[in-house]
Amino acid sequence: MSSYLNDVVRVYLNELVDWENYFRWVKGAGVDVDAEREALHQILETAADICQSLEAEARAGWDQEARLEDGRVVYPPHIERAYNALKEVGLVSCGVREEYGGYGLPSLIIQLILQMIARADAGLMTMLGLQAGVAEDIQEYASEELKREYLPRFASGEVMGAMDLTEPEAGSDLGAITTRATEEGNRCFVDGQKIFITNGGCEVHLVLARDDDTFEASKGTTRGLSLYLVPRTLPSGDPNGVEVTRLEEKLGIHGSPTAAMKFEHAEGFRLGEKGEGFKAMLALMNNARLGVAAQGIGIAEAALSTALRYARERVQFGVPIAEQPLMKDKLARMTLTLEGSRALLYRACSLTDRNRAIEAAFRRTPADSDEFSEAERVEMEAERIRNLTRIRLLTPLAKYMATEAADSITRDAIQIHGGLGFMAESEVGKLHSDAIITTIYEGTSEIQVSFALKEIGKGALSVVFESLELELKAFDEPELRPFADKVLNGMRLILDSAGSLVADFSYALMSAQSLAEVVSSVIAGAELLGQARADPARIDLAASWIDRKMVDLEGRCQRIKEGSADRLNRCENIIALIE
Ligand SMILES: Cc1cc2nc3c(=O)[nH]c(=O)nc-3n(C[C@H](O)[C@H](O)[C@H](O)COP(=O)(O)OP(=O)(O)OC[C@H]3O[C@@H](n4cnc5c(N)ncnc54)[C@H](O)[C@@H]3O)c2cc1C
Repeated sequence: MSSYLNDVVRVYLNELVDWENYFRWVKGAGVDVDAEREALHQILETAADICQSLEAEARAGWDQEARLEDGRVVYPPHIERAYNALKEVGLVSCGVREEYGGYGLPSLIIQLILQMIARADAGLMTMLGLQAGVAEDIQEYASEELKREYLPRFASGEVMGAMDLTEPEAGSDLGAITTRATEEGNRCFVDGQKIFITNGGCEVHLVLARDDDTFEASKGTTRGLSLYLVPRTLPSGDPNGVEVTRLEEKLGIHGSPTAAMKFEHAEGFRLGEKGEGFKAMLALMNNARLGVAAQGIGIAEAALSTALRYARERVQFGVPIAEQPLMKDKLARMTLTLEGSRALLYRACSLTDRNRAIEAAFRRTPADSDEFSEAERVEMEAERIRNLTRIRLLTPLAKYMATEAADSITRDAIQIHGGLGFMAESEVGKLHSDAIITTIYEGTSEIQVSFALKEIGKGALSVVFESLELELKAFDEPELRPFADKVLNGMRLILDSAGSLVADFSYALMSAQSLAEVVSSVIAGAELLGQARADPARIDLAASWIDRKMVDLEGRCQRIKEGSADRLNRCENIIALIE
C-alpha cells in the first residue's frame, strides 16, 4: 500500500462509516455494498500511487509561477503534467454524479483524494479543490440545461472552474460586493472587478454579483446578491467579456494561478434564485472549506513524515535527535495535532455523506414508493435536519483546526531541521510557505471561529452534544471508558462556561477562538476513541489527545466563565503601549 494511504483510511472504509445504508440509499436495495466499497478502495489506491509519483517533480518545480501570455494563463509544466495524469483516470472532478458523467464519489473519498494531491503538490490541490466545489454548486443550483452543458465537461477535466467573490473592498465582508448584474430582457450581464481569483484563466466562473434593480437598497448586505455562471466562451462560440488583468506573485502555492479579473458586459446565467446567491455560494464555500481542511491535512502529513525521517537520521550528542525526550514529545504533539484535526474533518465528511445519501434516496424514490415506509422517511428527514445543524458547526471547526494544524506542524518541521530548515531549498520550508494560505482563503481562521460561534448561538451545541453523549456513553471497553468519561466531563465544563457568553456579544466574539478549540477537542476526542475501538494501535493516540486537551479545556472554560467584555478594555490598554 502506498505511504500516501494512511492506515486510518482502512478503518473508515471498513468500520467507522455506515456504508450499508450509504449505498442502499444512494443506489437502491439491490446494491452490492462490498463491491462498491472495494471500488472506493481501488480509486484511493490509484490516487495514492499517482500522487506519490508526482511529489518529486512538484517539489523540484515548487517556485515556478503560472504566467500570463496574451491574456491566457500558462501553467508550469509540472502542474500541466500532474493535471493530465489525474484527468486521465477521471480524478479531477470526482463529485459529479454518474448521470452527468462523473463518479459521484462520497465527500469523504473526495477529501481523501484532495488530501493526497495536497501532500504531493499544494498548488495543484488549490486548483482542483475549487474545481470540485464549482462543479458541485452547478450540480446543486443550475438549470438542467446548464448541468448537461457543463457537468460532463467538468467530469472529464475538459473545463476548469473558478469562484469569483473577492473584490478590493470585499474580502471577509462579502456584503461589500459591488460587481453589478443587470438584466436586459431575459438575459443578464455582469460588470465589475474581482481579485485573488484562483484558476482565473479557466472557462467557467461562478461570480457573486449585486443585482442592479436592488443595488442601492441592498448595498452593504449579503441580500440582493445573485450567483452567475459566467463562461469565457459563450454557447454561440463568441468570447465573453471576461479578462484576466494580472497574475499575482505569492509566498507559496506558486503553481496555482491567482488572478485579478475584469468582467465587462459579460453574459451570465443565474444559478438558483435571484437575490439568493449568497446562500448558493455558502454551499460551495462549505464544500470548499472541507477541501481546504483536507489540503491542510495533506500538507501537514508531508511535513511530519519529512521531519520524522530527518529526526531519525540526524545524529547529535551521539544519538539520533528523534531519541531526545524533548524531540519525542514534539513529534508526538505534532502527530496528535494532525490526527485530531483529521478526526474532525473525517467526521464532518461522514455526516455530509450521510445527508447526501438521504437526499439521494429521496431524489431516487417517489414519495409513494414502497422502498421506504412512511415512518422510515420521517425518521430519515429528521436525521437529515439534525445532521445539517451538526455539519454547519463541524465544517468551520474542521477548516479552522486542520489549517492551523498545517501552519503549526510545518513550522515545527522547520525547527526539527535546525538551520537546514531555514535554507531556501528546504522542503519543509516550502511546505510551510504553502500552509500559510490555508488559514486565510475560503474564510480566514477568525471568520471560521466566528461562524462556529454563530451556529452555537443558534443552538448547534445541544444538537451536537446530544449525539456525542449517546456515543460516549456506549464505550464499555475498560481501556476506553475512563477517557470517554473525561470527554463527557469536558462537555459539561463547556456547557457550564458557555452561559457567560450570552450576556455580551462582543465578549462572545472575543472568546470565539477559545470556544472553537474546546468544542473541537471534545468532538475530535470522541472520534479518536471510535478509531481506537476499531484499531487498538490508536488507543494511546486517543488517550493522549484526551489527557492533554481536557487539561487545556479546563483552563479555557474557567477563563471564559470568569471573564466579561471588560477584557476588551484591557486589550485596548495593552495595544496602546505599542502605539
Ligand atoms: C492565494 C489566494 C487565493 C484565493 N482564491 C480566491 C478565489 O478563488 N476566489 C475568491 O473569491 N477569493 C479568493 N481569495 C481571497 C480570499 O478568500 C481572501 O483573501 C480572504 O477571504 C480574506 O479576505 P481579505 O484578504 O480581504 O482580508 P480581510 O477581510 O481584510 O481580513 C484581514 C484580517 O482581518 C481579519 N478579520 C476580518 N474581519 C474580521 C472579523 N469580523 N472578526 C475578526 N477578524 C476579522 C481576518 O481574519 C484577517 O486576519 C484568495 C486569496 C489568496 C491569497
